[in-house]
Amino acid sequence: TGLVVAMDGPSGSGKSSVSRGVARALGLRYLDTGAMYRAMTWWMLEQGVDLADPAAIAARAGEPQIVSGTDPDAPAIHVDGVDVAGPIRQSDVTGAVSVVAAVPEVRVRLVALQREIAGAGDIVIEGRDIGTVVCPEAAVKVYLTASAEARARRRSAEVAGSTVEAQQAAMAKRDTLDSTRKTDPLSMADGAVELDTTALGLEEVIAEVLRLVAE
Ligand code: C5P
Repeated sequence: TGLVVAMDGPSGSGKSSVSRGVARALGLRYLDTGAMYRAMTWWMLEQGVDLADPAAIAARAGEPQIVSGTDPDAPAIHVDGVDVAGPIRQSDVTGAVSVVAAVPEVRVRLVALQREIAGAGDIVIEGRDIGTVVCPEAAVKVYLTASAEARARRRSAEVAGSTVEAQQAAMAKRDTLDSTRKTDPLSMADGAVELDTTALGLEEVIAEVLRLVAE
């Protein structure tokens, strides 16, 4: 099987831009696992599932058909045939996704889908648990970090009408939930290389990952 590059880290660390750049440079596929958790969350909100009730989330986790594209130039995500690339970035989904992603039944389902897609290799796959759970055999594991302020600055530049302060507070809340949940919390995998991107430009980070791949 072909090369697998696992890219993990907290929100705003630059995972998506870096992963897509690396995939493009090497002619690999690209999978955004966060988009799959967001798609599941979008569907739960659409269905009016009570997100305060983990058992209610668990009971419905098997229902939506989630289909992810793997082209780094055109990331695509559909739920039951509906294109949700736009809606999954909205604040209602962003505010609820960590709660949905903490439910074990949701993770079992999405991890299985992700392994199916990653199985053939030749892929850069980004998320929170790729090096630890989804692809522990990945040849290259990267853990991207950046200061909380740098992460909030990047994210607020992407989201219209948001302040750095509001982004920083929302991200801190999400990161705490993601790193303290019982199932597959965000953590650095054995064998992962930590890359602090606070003072680096996108092209510099991509070059550093390409260097790790070439090693
Ligand atoms: O990467 P992104 O910020 O879009 O991910 C959204 C959320 O999905 C994360 O905050 C986390 O709760 C969840 N997630 C996860 N495991 C992954 C990828 C994302 O739990 N592999």
